[in-house]
Amino acid sequence: MSEPSIFTRILDGEIPSEIIAETENAFAIRDIAPKAPVHLLVIPKSEQYRNVVELAAGDPDLLAELVGLANSLAAEHADGDFRLIFNTGPNAGQTVFHVHAHVLAGGLQEASLGA
Ligand code: AMP
Repeated sequence: MSEPSIFTRILDGEIPSEIIAETENAFAIRDIAPKAPVHLLVIPKSEQYRNVVELAAGDPDLLAELVGLANSLAAEHADGDFRLIFNTGPNAGQTVFHVHAHVLAGGLQEASLGA
């Protein structure tokens, strides 16, 4: 059994971070190194899926729940518009292999792609 991911440890209260929103199967935190005025992470409570490809194949309803949570957060924390990024694989910048979406919002018109 591998070590719990950093996000599981946050959910379990072992690493301090404010959980800013929660649904039945997902939760959201602020990214510790924000790349946009609003930079949140939406994360399944289970770390069963390592990336969005596995998640889409294994539990499309949970993927839809993440998108819905991202949409609510963008409305609450910005003007409702947002960019949703799933880094998939280390060469794309994925560092935590517990699937999560980056929700970027707030004045992104000039920003280039990337999280
Ligand atoms: P990725 O590189 O796509 O796997 O995204 C992982 C993200 O987790 C990075 O943007 C990190 O800044 C963020 N991160 C790492 N540790 C923490 C933490 N303790 N609290 C909030 N965000 C974190």
